[in-house]
Amino acid sequence: MIRITDILDRVSSYNSEADLDLVERAYVYSARIHEGQVRLSGEPYLSHPLEVAGLLTKLKLDPVSVAAGLLHDTLEDTKATMEDLTRLFGPSVSHIVEGVTKLGGLAFRSYEDRQAESIRKMILAMADDIRVILIKLCDRLHNMRTLQFQTEKKQLKIAQETLDIYAPLASRLGIHWMKIELEDIAFMYLFPHQYREIASHVTKKKEEQQEYINTVRKIIETKLAEAHLPCEVQGRHKHLYSIYQKIMNQRVDFQEVYDILAFRIILDTVPQCYQAIGVIHSIWKPIPKRFKDFIGIPKPNMYQSLHTTVIGPFGERVEIQIRTREMDHIANDGIAAHWQYKEKGHFDEKTGAAFAWLRKLVEEQKDIKDPDEFMESVQIQLFPDEVYVFTPQGDVLALPRGSTPVDFAYAIHTEVGHQCAGAKVDGRMVPLKYELKTGQRIEIVTSPNHQPSRDWLSFVKTAKARSRVRQHIKAKERKQSLALGREMCDKLLRKYHATLNKYLKSGEMEKATRELGYKTIDDLIAGVGYGKVTPLQIARYLLPRAEVEDEKETIVTRIKERIRGKKPKSGILVKGMDDILVRFGKCCNPLPGDPVVGYITRGQGVTAHRTSCPHALNMDPERRIELEWSPGAEEVYPVRIHVLCEDRMGLLAGITGAISEGEANILDASVKTRADQRADCYFTIAVSGADHLENVIKLVKNIKHVIKVARLAA
Ligand code: MN
Repeated sequence: MIRITDILDRVSSYNSEADLDLVERAYVYSARIHEGQVRLSGEPYLSHPLEVAGLLTKLKLDPVSVAAGLLHDTLEDTKATMEDLTRLFGPSVSHIVEGVTKLGGLAFRSYEDRQAESIRKMILAMADDIRVILIKLCDRLHNMRTLQFQTEKKQLKIAQETLDIYAPLASRLGIHWMKIELEDIAFMYLFPHQYREIASHVTKKKEEQQEYINTVRKIIETKLAEAHLPCEVQGRHKHLYSIYQKIMNQRVDFQEVYDILAFRIILDTVPQCYQAIGVIHSIWKPIPKRFKDFIGIPKPNMYQSLHTTVIGPFGERVEIQIRTREMDHIANDGIAAHWQYKEKGHFDEKTGAAFAWLRKLVEEQKDIKDPDEFMESVQIQLFPDEVYVFTPQGDVLALPRGSTPVDFAYAIHTEVGHQCAGAKVDGRMVPLKYELKTGQRIEIVTSPNHQPSRDWLSFVKTAKARSRVRQHIKAKERKQSLALGREMCDKLLRKYHATLNKYLKSGEMEKATRELGYKTIDDLIAGVGYGKVTPLQIARYLLPRAEVEDEKETIVTRIKERIRGKKPKSGILVKGMDDILVRFGKCCNPLPGDPVVGYITRGQGVTAHRTSCPHALNMDPERRIELEWSPGAEEVYPVRIHVLCEDRMGLLAGITGAISEGEANILDASVKTRADQRADCYFTIAVSGADHLENVIKLVKNIKHVIKVARLAA
């Protein structure tokens, strides 16, 4: 078991100004709070956080990381709280420990290929501080090293998870040695037979291979020295799991996997690397297409090297990597190497675009004095454009940032989207436009009668949700318009003792369709429903000559045309639909601003009523349709008002004056005197809406001797 003194020595060896006190205090606290707990191995529990901290020093991480490593299991397994850790060790340490604990709490259902990438990304996205992941990886590595104490079932589960999730994460962060060790241990548990076979081959060959390694190394060293390229040559075995992968992927026998051996040539500068590859290719014939320049084009995890495979001195394939010392360092420790640069106070200028955020972070950190501010600055977003959420089954879904439960529902299935009536996030109901966050578990509440609403288009983020909602609304609109158009045509034709069916059968309808420039009969009939074409226009093609007189206009249309001198639009919209023909209920005469509801009426299209209209309340709910006033429609509407006043000379002139002052036209007026010296005046006035009417009524009420003013239903 590693001792705390070793850890402290190591930290001060790579960071002379490190806050060793923080690490020591974390150790004392961890020892006390884990006291009495033992691992499955029988060792005191403390051995685990100590080993994890030891691994963190191998990555040369800062004292905050090492302290957090010592404390990483205290929130999960002891009575320690977030507040305790923050008070004792500061917000950076407690925040990191909390992050590690959160990652430990994620429960994934499976690690199949389809899911693995999303899970890896979710883990990276959950950890808003890169040190959280470095600690999680060291935690996993120590758990893998002590996996023999677990039950077989757990061994398999943990090994599979390591192979699918954690080894690739280590690789992505560029920590090569850790990836190799994680893979080989997982390989041993998951494929014990294959592991033993490959391991024994490798051991058997080791001795003869050592001789071979020495020969090849000598040739390389001599040739490069002749070219004045001082270098270090490392010969090494490929790790067991990579040999296994090669056998599986290339379907070759173990005997054929010659490049079990690989050589690495380390030089001082980049130009030397390119010179060295020239020398190598001049001694041994390169295999076509095996040369790769990761110096010119680094891998996303910052890995840089020249790779080549050549035919070696004995006719065998030899894999060779050429790189600078610094590249070698980054290839082994990856992102942790960048962290070390930060600790030394300077930073590698060649950091690529993929890790630009890290460079930015470190540069900005120079000016940060406040520890809280620093903590904020090390919070990173590795995938700023995506969120990762769980299905109720534990699968992970990746969605664009800003996605809502509706996007989630459509991502599951189109029908789930259509029927999405509500959503629960981590067990609590949320509005449909709620913004999802990484790590949340989403459950969609469906209802078979529920239908997508046009409102959804204002907040959905995914293209799939958007297009499915649009499609659905379009189909629904068309269905309604078709039914409406059919009724309207039938109604008109009945006046002439004909039916739509008759013309459909005779083929005359088809002719009318062509004449009016529509593709199909259904398009034409739907056009009537949409208000794009009138039944009368169609009838002119179907019925003989002058038989067709102009369709009777509604009173409303007539009045409005008189006022405006032009054909008005209705000013009212069927919710979620464009251009549906709407008439106004004569029973209640709605004005813009009044709450309204629509009814699909036989032959009349949609009729709008005020929601309070008793007539409307009695109608068949099946035919009910949502309406809304179109914003900014410059229309005027007739409304009748009753004014009760004293019967005095000039008073009528005063009232009409007030109405004009309120900018309303009077369309009709009548006065009846009563026996009690009072008069009932009735006006039909044109107003733009409920607010306008209210204003006019107020003006009339203000006139002396006016007793009462009221809006009439009709
Ligand atoms: Mn642990």
